[in-house]
Amino acid sequence: MKPLLITIDGPAGAGKTTVSRALADRLGYAYMDTGALYRGVAREMHVRQVDPEDEKGLAWVLGDLDLRFVRRDGDLRLLSAGVDITGEIRNPEITMLASAASARPEVRCALLALQRRLGAEKSAVFEGRDMGTVVFPDADVKFFLSADLHVRARRRYLELAGGQEVSIEQVEKDMQKRDANDAGRSIAPLKPADDAFHIDSTSKSAGAVVDEMMVVIRDVAGR
Ligand code: C5P
Repeated sequence: MKPLLITIDGPAGAGKTTVSRALADRLGYAYMDTGALYRGVAREMHVRQVDPEDEKGLAWVLGDLDLRFVRRDGDLRLLSAGVDITGEIRNPEITMLASAASARPEVRCALLALQRRLGAEKSAVFEGRDMGTVVFPDADVKFFLSADLHVRARRRYLELAGGQEVSIEQVEKDMQKRDANDAGRSIAPLKPADDAFHIDSTSKSAGAVVDEMMVVIRDVAGR
């Protein structure tokens, strides 16, 4: 099979991460979590006390931005200026800051070039919000993964429940706000690419979704 670039977009909690990792494993491809990059920017903003409306502060953060993925023990780790920040980017505060920061054109612009560089060699599965529409409009196979809000919130709650004091109601509220931010922003809003394959994961296991994707991928690769 020739090397493909595969994109998976969709709202928070639709199962993109689990499915993207599993799909990349099945294909022997690299997995790229672009949400982690937005979270990495948010973490740097948080450290420097820069809020999303602060243009000068953003320019300062973005001018020094040095984000890199490394794979360690089969895990994708995010480094900022060489420091592993993977454990710091999933808390609710950074999550909401990433959502707000992602509406800033300068942030999207800074990450666009980085993401395209990461995708230059193909053989990769990219998950995000605008992978198939803006970052890789010529991707070989595009998926848009969605699920009911309640189901998405429950999945995210179960993921978080181990480490953090947060109610399922709060998770659902934050998720709804992030969805609205992502879908409503003027630049690179969350929406399916015209040529994306839609999959609703509400009542499907991750394995079933990956199987469905593999059918599409084999079909495209065989053309
Ligand atoms: O996917 P994840 O929830 O980790 O992404 C964190 C935030 O980054 C999202 O709420 C979204 O606003 C933003 N994001 C984005 N474009 C992407 C990936 C993530 O705007 N390609």
